[in-house]
Amino acid sequence: MNLFLNIFVFVFGTLIGSFLNVCIYRIPEEKSIVSPPSSCSECGHRLGFLDLIPVLTYVFNNGKCRHCGAKYSAQYPLIELLNGILYLLVFYKYGFKWISVMHCITISLLIVIFMIDLRYRIIPDSLVIFGLLYTTFISIMLIDINIWDKVFGFLFGFTLFLVIALVTNAMGGGDIKLMGLLGLNFGLKGIIFITIFSFVIGAVISLGLLITKKATRKDYIPFGPFIAISAVTYIFWGNEIINLYFKLIL
Ligand SMILES: [Zn+2]
Repeated sequence: MNLFLNIFVFVFGTLIGSFLNVCIYRIPEEKSIVSPPSSCSECGHRLGFLDLIPVLTYVFNNGKCRHCGAKYSAQYPLIELLNGILYLLVFYKYGFKWISVMHCITISLLIVIFMIDLRYRIIPDSLVIFGLLYTTFISIMLIDINIWDKVFGFLFGFTLFLVIALVTNAMGGGDIKLMGLLGLNFGLKGIIFITIFSFVIGAVISLGLLITKKATRKDYIPFGPFIAISAVTYIFWGNEIINLYFKLIL
């Protein structure tokens, strides 16, 4: 991939990242993600082109509003940077194909779900519905995929988490729907990986939080972020981790 394409993919990723910040703040409050245009939450100044250049605006203004000096959260540039880097890595790994487009949209969706579930402990239905739509659409574009694998993946993810939710009371409806969606996206092998991996990192991180007393046994720890991390891990290293695992046990 040449330098120009690299830069294009990265910059495009940061621009989408900027839009993800809007989604993260507005979707849980059930506000429109298209209007009104972004404005400073302190002084209300409508943000123009110079205020909306991903990452650079934040760096050059020292993380402050150009008009009133209010401090902005470092989350804005970090999400932009993260989305740009992950887009670049997807195109490195998968090349200029439809599957890369699918993975990029999925990663952006998972970033939004990660942040909203962490903060509000919900996975909005609108995000899952959006996911089902583009996953179905792009799957149809990729004519060489196994449609039954995707259907079984959906059924596996949805049913397993439904049962876990009924038995343990520890999962929400959002987790069940998200697992159905990811099963449709990644097929049976992918959703089994995501299930196991999310429980492993969920256990490790929850234990870490308990030991460092950042959480108590009574605290509810949302599961969506673990699912999101697992799905992104599957995109980049799924097959490598599965091969390593079987090499170690055989
Ligand atoms: Zn301001």
